[in-house]
Amino acid sequence: MNSSQDRGFCSLPAIPLWVNNETLIGSSKRSMPVFNPATGTPAKRVTFASDDDLERALAVAADAFQSWAAVPPVKRARLLFRFKQLVERDHDCLARLISEEHGKTVPDAAGEVLRGLEVIEFACGIPQLLKGEYSPQVGSSVDSFSFRQPLGVAVGITPFNFPVMVPMWMFPIAIACGNCFVLKPSERDPSPSLHLARLLAEAGIPPGVFTVLHGDAELVGRMIAHPTVAAVSFVGSTPVAESIYRQATYYGKRVQALGGAKNHLVILPDADLDQTADALIGSAFGSAGERCMAVSVAVPVGAQVADELVSRLKPRVTALRIGPGDQAGAEMGPLVTEAHRERVAAYLDLGVNEGARLVVDGRGAAVPGQGFFLGGSLLDHVTPAMRVYQEEIFGPVLSIVRAANLDEAIRLVNAHPYGNGVALFTRDGAAARRFMLQVNVGMVGINVPIPVPMAFHSFGGWKRSLFGDHHVHGPEGVRFYTRLKNVTARWPGSTVTGAEFVMPTAS
Ligand code: NAD
Repeated sequence: MNSSQDRGFCSLPAIPLWVNNETLIGSSKRSMPVFNPATGTPAKRVTFASDDDLERALAVAADAFQSWAAVPPVKRARLLFRFKQLVERDHDCLARLISEEHGKTVPDAAGEVLRGLEVIEFACGIPQLLKGEYSPQVGSSVDSFSFRQPLGVAVGITPFNFPVMVPMWMFPIAIACGNCFVLKPSERDPSPSLHLARLLAEAGIPPGVFTVLHGDAELVGRMIAHPTVAAVSFVGSTPVAESIYRQATYYGKRVQALGGAKNHLVILPDADLDQTADALIGSAFGSAGERCMAVSVAVPVGAQVADELVSRLKPRVTALRIGPGDQAGAEMGPLVTEAHRERVAAYLDLGVNEGARLVVDGRGAAVPGQGFFLGGSLLDHVTPAMRVYQEEIFGPVLSIVRAANLDEAIRLVNAHPYGNGVALFTRDGAAARRFMLQVNVGMVGINVPIPVPMAFHSFGGWKRSLFGDHHVHGPEGVRFYTRLKNVTARWPGSTVTGAEFVMPTAS
């Protein structure tokens, strides 16, 4: 939307930027309404950053970097520890804020906050994580040591589906490493970032170390091209991830760009089908399927397993409890926008036209009020050539693709362009081991439907689910936000006099 002027959104409460530890109303002429997806009504207006706002924010961040990088890591860790306590204090408030703008249920949002908190906990160990290596006497009276230093100003561009957790995959580690961080959250649910910024300020973070700028593709392009920006972290859809990766590489920036997904769950004939059905229902329909690690394809091995699985899933998908995120007992909230609901619903017609069987049609589900609700859907007899299989739907739609044996299932997973997550359900250890080794996917679950690594490991997919060399958070996060320096030192008393023209060796 180009302007909010003529749509009556100007009277809505404005969501500001966060620059220099203060709120700032974005001075761009552009702004956007932020909807409550459960009611379908615009509730707030997010103000966009202008060129001047961006220049100011980056100048403040570049200035802050000079002193922040010099703060001893242990002091940065203490500050993050205070931040962690404040996030714990405001945990419920953050969960409600997420639910109001994203639509997911409050308990699900509370889980998101906890997964973000775990990254702060990890970042609190930064003195240990930044420790270098030391080799005395690499030559006569010569020592050699290496350590990691921050990059400067890093930017993070994040998606709508985890407005707290995904930013927290990035900024606690970036800041702990001594960088300044500029967050450009999704314009669809921008308020939780502001709350986090306030908590960081309350914890004592110096002005300029953490900044929040709102905007869309236009702002992102300007951020990436700006000479002050040293590194770009992106999480979002694959076409945008690929484009950001190319732009950032062109401008010589360090970049990690995580994209979309199509996650398979393969079921062998020896799996417990009741447990598998439970796992599928939660992982396909939790958060209305708007998770990059949601299972969107079930791959039963053998026709009998497939038929039994479908007969177990059908009544459960039909009976999903759909309601506003703050309604007790709701299992699935609305989709994030009306446009996204229409996009997801269109895939159901497409699937039928392509020859799939629509076992449960979520468009027929009873839903409350005018919110962006869509019931759960189940498509059977989906085949690899269909667009409903190839493309990321990112909604409450589970496809069944039948395979004859484990080899065929592995080939199917490996041929798919996305490679974020995958799972195998079985009691057979040898089959699980073969699967784990042969599958070309970044995160693998064995009887675990959503194998999201803990904060002290790193998260990332393969193939078109990640562009760049580094996964996020954990040890890979520390590597991404720092660069290695090596020092070779000798002191005057031991220095050999006279010029040396021969390549130095330890002999
Ligand atoms: P999106 O790609 O539309 O937007 C992500 C961010 O990029 C937003 O901040 C948006 O403002 C910005 N953006 C949008 N278009 C842009 C453009 N042309 N140029 C520059 N910036 C642009 O994604 P979304 O709809 O917010 O989120 C859903 C997507 O994110 C899904 O594809 C999902 O799989 C993916 N996702 C991936 C992971 C992962 O870890 N791989 C995690 C969460 C979400």
